[in-house]
Amino acid sequence: MNRKNPLQYVRPNILALEPYSTARDEFTGGDISVWVDANENPFNNGVNRYPDPHHRKLKEVVASLKGFPASQIFLGGAGSDEAIDLTFRIFCTPGKDNAIAISPSYGVYRVSAAINDIELREVRLNDDFSLPVDRLLEAADSRSKLMWICSPNNPTANAFARADLLRLCDEFDGMVVVDEAYVDFSEEGSLRDCIAAHPNLIILQTFSKAWGMAGLRFGMAFAAAEIIAIYNNVKYPYNINGPTQAALIERITATAPEVGRMVDEITADRRMLSDGLSRCACVEQVYPSDANFLLVKVTDAGAIYDYLIANGVIVRNRSSQPGCADCLRITVGTHDENLRILDLMRAYVCN
Ligand SMILES: *Cc1c(COP(=O)(O)O)cnc(C)c1O
Repeated sequence: MNRKNPLQYVRPNILALEPYSTARDEFTGGDISVWVDANENPFNNGVNRYPDPHHRKLKEVVASLKGFPASQIFLGGAGSDEAIDLTFRIFCTPGKDNAIAISPSYGVYRVSAAINDIELREVRLNDDFSLPVDRLLEAADSRSKLMWICSPNNPTANAFARADLLRLCDEFDGMVVVDEAYVDFSEEGSLRDCIAAHPNLIILQTFSKAWGMAGLRFGMAFAAAEIIAIYNNVKYPYNINGPTQAALIERITATAPEVGRMVDEITADRRMLSDGLSRCACVEQVYPSDANFLLVKVTDAGAIYDYLIANGVIVRNRSSQPGCADCLRITVGTHDENLRILDLMRAYVCN
């Protein structure tokens, strides 16, 4: 195993960055009663003060929940999307460096690469949606700084083998980013604990899926402490607003005892929905899922999509994605919603 120094992959200007220092950065505690350091309005209305730019309390809650050091956690206030964009900005020089990703996968990698003027080299998954490890490695050259792997993958729903992901970390001369948005629904588990042995590994997670907080826009990155320090230098200083920090602490604490039960319920219903759908005449294949959605190959995705909408049900048509012709992506809903989808799909008359 080759323990790579991850700082070698950071853009030189980012490595040299003198970060913005906020009014509250220099303050480390003490009994202050007069706050006249930040040009705020002094009249208290609940939001007149700047929030903690380091989200210390929130980070402690997340660190203890994940059993991971606060120094190795980045918190983003625009969901995982913020961490994805920052990752391109930290590692890839626009117009020069490139990144590698699997295809089909989450569309934000491509958009974020394009915004940052980074070539994204997309490598098709194998026909059974397994990871094409050799082809991913072959796609790299000396300007390849990032490799994006979503596991469990959206939209194919499968998790990749740990051994394959770790082989990429060992053999790719750059950073491997594993997006674990759906990890709570997978038996493969998180790769977070592999960061110590593989310092070129970055893990993204979110509270938008299993934790039920998509509306709060909160995502995380886990990486070596020296890499997280760079994320913190590059992020907008006040990237998570005060009411959101407070709401997150409250929601995370309230959800922690419930999340296991919700995940069990969703995965049990995923099985029910998958079994039911695979017996429908209009369904050709339900792919195995390690996530909270099913990728379903149907006889005619366009017509069935329209039929479901006419009946008040919206799914995602993924037919345009490579290897996903006539595929719908269906999120596991409540038990009643899932039964309704099954009723509609059973009643659909194929042409
Ligand atoms: C839903 C999803 C996310 C989460 O995005 P947020 O911005 O955190 O809501 C991240 N990655 C993938 C692959 C997803 O499907």
